[in-house]
Amino acid sequence: SDSDAAAFFKENNMTVSDTSIKPLLRFDDLDVEEGLVKPLKAFEKPTPIQSITWPCLLQGKDTIGIAETGSGKTLAFAIPGLSRHVLSDASNKTPSILVIAPTRELAVQTYDNIDKLKMTPSICLYGGVSKEEQKRTIKKNKPRVIVGTPGRLLDLVNDGGLDLSNVKYLVLDEADRMLDQGFEKDITAIIGNTPSTRQTAMFSATWPQSVRALAATFMRDPVRVTVGSEEL
Ligand code: ADP
Ligand code: MG
Repeated sequence: SDSDAAAFFKENNMTVSDTSIKPLLRFDDLDVEEGLVKPLKAFEKPTPIQSITWPCLLQGKDTIGIAETGSGKTLAFAIPGLSRHVLSDASNKTPSILVIAPTRELAVQTYDNIDKLKMTPSICLYGGVSKEEQKRTIKKNKPRVIVGTPGRLLDLVNDGGLDLSNVKYLVLDEADRMLDQGFEKDITAIIGNTPSTRQTAMFSATWPQSVRALAATFMRDPVRVTVGSEEL
């Protein structure tokens, strides 16, 4: 009920910009493929950020999730993305999901989390290694999920090694850190190569003015979910 939802938000120090969205409190209530629910059962229940971003993203809404490090943000965007944009269209062989992350280390962590679910071919793309080899792997494996850092992603797009024209779901992960590292221009250029009809999700540990401006540029009427304070 409305009062249960309000109590849940209060208890978890959450704010949600669209109060029509009710928290999903049990994995069994998640309306996704069984193969996606099964690995979650290792955990007890959805984290607060997952409990709202799941229903929100599964409805197809652009969504901003702000929550501290270690709060389960990777599965918060991965589960709905895989369900809506990959498993529902299994014959497709082009990248449907693009996740942009600020560093090689974070990109690899996110990639590992998604790859572990064993749902679809995925690839992690970052600089400092052979671009030609990455291009060959993309051609050969036809990944549906791309996780990468801004510089190398843009490089691959610009020389024809990576086609983003069928991306259905774009995730800006650790958005605050990406802006801190001066990636705004690269991100803008990468997003310019994705369809404007895509669904966009943004996750961040903080919600400074620079991240607000980025969200305002790329997102369509986003729902914003905050767990804890929006400050550092
Ligand atoms: P964040 O991106 O918010 O920093 P991660 O997505 O990296 O956090 O998740 C941190 C850890 O929490 C990971 O080891 C992940 O497997 C685990 N985790 C994810 N969802 C849950 C959950 N519902 N309950 C308990 N642990 C979870
Ligand atoms: Mg994360």
